[in-house]
Amino acid sequence: MSKRDYYEVLGVGKNASDTEIKKAYRKLAQKYHPDRNPDDEEALEKFREAKEAAEVLSDSQKRAAYDQFGHAGVDGSAGGFGGGGGGGFGGADFSDIFGDMFGDIFGGGRRRGRGADLRYNLEISLEDAVQGTETEIRIPTLVECESCNGSGAKPGSTPKTCGTCRGIGQVRMQQGFFSIQQTCPTCQGSGQQIDDPCGQCRGSGRTEEEKTLSVKVPAGVDTGDRIRLSGEGEPGESGAPAGDLYVEVRVKPHPIFERDGANLICDVPLDIATAALGGEVDVPTLDGRVKLKIPAGTQSERVFRLRGKGVKPVRGGAKGDVLCRARVETPVNLTNRQKEILEELQASFEDDTRKHSPRQNSWLDGVKKFFEDIGL
Ligand SMILES: [Zn+2]
Ligand SMILES: [Zn+2]
Repeated sequence: MSKRDYYEVLGVGKNASDTEIKKAYRKLAQKYHPDRNPDDEEALEKFREAKEAAEVLSDSQKRAAYDQFGHAGVDGSAGGFGGGGGGGFGGADFSDIFGDMFGDIFGGGRRRGRGADLRYNLEISLEDAVQGTETEIRIPTLVECESCNGSGAKPGSTPKTCGTCRGIGQVRMQQGFFSIQQTCPTCQGSGQQIDDPCGQCRGSGRTEEEKTLSVKVPAGVDTGDRIRLSGEGEPGESGAPAGDLYVEVRVKPHPIFERDGANLICDVPLDIATAALGGEVDVPTLDGRVKLKIPAGTQSERVFRLRGKGVKPVRGGAKGDVLCRARVETPVNLTNRQKEILEELQASFEDDTRKHSPRQNSWLDGVKKFFEDIGL
């Protein structure tokens, strides 16, 4: 295959300036960029040709050699595409001789690159959160259309460059004195036009599917923790990497335990006799029942700590505790006999209420002082 003259490829004269060469290349690169012309071998070849020509002609040394010896003077030195044709067109090669020029061309109106991250809300029980679990989730996801391989064009046809914007994805609109650039209304910025849309995806190139994923929930997670499933988000465009899926954990309310970081809090109702006389009660932990000693004279709200019976935090650190909060319960539905006993008990306090009801007495003192202060 004989190579075309580099100046001819770029459509510039032999005396073209650097700026003219770059401008010419930019124009061709826009038109023939593989992202705009998927599966179009001819466009790819044109793109390679333009890139090679620009690489040589924008380098003063190479350009001088080319001017003197023709292709023989520079062959094999125009990095990347030596020999022409053949080899794969790696995306990495797009880091360009003109710096970030593709940033200029494709920035703005064009949606390009990595797929979007997705979020999934996962509700789990407290037990599963503490011990860890593995669960399956089903998520709706957009996948590359199998029928058209994501091009959006009916199998056998290819999308063509948008006629309105000539593949740029943006159009200039005249408004009074100003000309403003906006997303091409014909192709919505994609730069492509599909005459014959794929029936499966109606031209979008993607179809919705449900996929089942296995999620490993590590022990110790809490509400708001997120588990990242790398690459399980929305697929990228034109072969770009997919986004990630974030599984956000929500721990369901538990009938007994309230979670507070690494600690588990639970209420322990105590009848007045146990609270007054002391005793032993069974309290739950996630590892099973534990006997808790209740000292005589236990008041409501007193907290008993069971060390190390709580949660091992997912980010490391010591295992938390189970905090048992005493709730002294007033007896109800009393028989006459029980009422008599309580009345007897109450009467026995009359001698020294200060001693038997310390809280009530300090409260009464407070009330008395309050009324004195305001002069009642
Ligand atoms: Zn399709
Ligand atoms: Zn367009």
